[in-house]
Amino acid sequence: SYENLAGRTAVVTGAASGIGEATAVLLAERGARVALFARRGERLEAIAEKIRADGGQALAVVADVTDDASVVAAVERVHTAYGAVDLVVNNAGVMLPNPIADARVDEWQRMIDTNVTGVLRIIGAFAGDLNAAAEQGRRADLVNVSSIGAHVTGFTDYAVYGATKAAVTHLSALLRNEFGPRGVRVTNIEPGLTESELATHIDNDGLREQIGGLVETTGSLAAAELADLVVYVTSRPRHVNLRQVVVLPTAQV
Ligand code: NDP
Repeated sequence: SYENLAGRTAVVTGAASGIGEATAVLLAERGARVALFARRGERLEAIAEKIRADGGQALAVVADVTDDASVVAAVERVHTAYGAVDLVVNNAGVMLPNPIADARVDEWQRMIDTNVTGVLRIIGAFAGDLNAAAEQGRRADLVNVSSIGAHVTGFTDYAVYGATKAAVTHLSALLRNEFGPRGVRVTNIEPGLTESELATHIDNDGLREQIGGLVETTGSLAAAELADLVVYVTSRPRHVNLRQVVVLPTAQV
């Protein structure tokens, strides 16, 4: 029934804070069993504990999406605890802007490893599960969290981040050729400014303050509003695929 996710088994990456945390909490509230992936185990454990205290089902799984062995071990844990997965939210990401002339190869590599290769690694790990669920006539969802930054916007110094997110958006579109005919939905979400820890990792005082200023003038979305969207798209009848969702605070330009 409407927005009921009972019987679904979900994995949410980047579930230790922000959009991923809110999404894991809401998926569980709607009845899904949820495996929470991120690197900070204590954070995950506390969130999973809270979900269970509220009557939901949750499993905290330490996983670094940039590391093959870590993801293999995490997938194994999910399969042992819950069996196959039918809802994957590829949300883990980092945003490290700086002028391109600074040549911060370390930051470029972290963004590519997390936002692109990490997303691919998770898709590779769960594609078989998603195909199998669809094959059995059940709903199967791959939700990729991209960004409005995937498009050409006024965000100076965010070129590499934007390029990694353009890769996510384009990958979502191309993967529909493989997943769509099998009955697996691919939803690409492109949020604008959303409350989270994302900007706290910016290693450039001016750019970090710029985001803060922007949030003050245009406002921001709550992480729970993104979670709401994930629940909406994944709870449609299985033949309905909301493919691309661009969601920004109304005043953001
Ligand atoms: P947060 O920084 O709050 O959340 C990011 C999450 O990703 C954290 O839980 C973090 O946990 C996890 N993470 C980071 N690196 C890894 C890794 N290597 N392996 C596993 N998990 C990792 O920010 P948001 O909630 O905002 O970010 C979620 C997604 O939303 C990102 O993809 C971001 O690009 C996107 N987005 C956000 C927008 C915004 O305005 N906030 C706008 C547009 C898109 P841990 O450190 O414990 O691993």
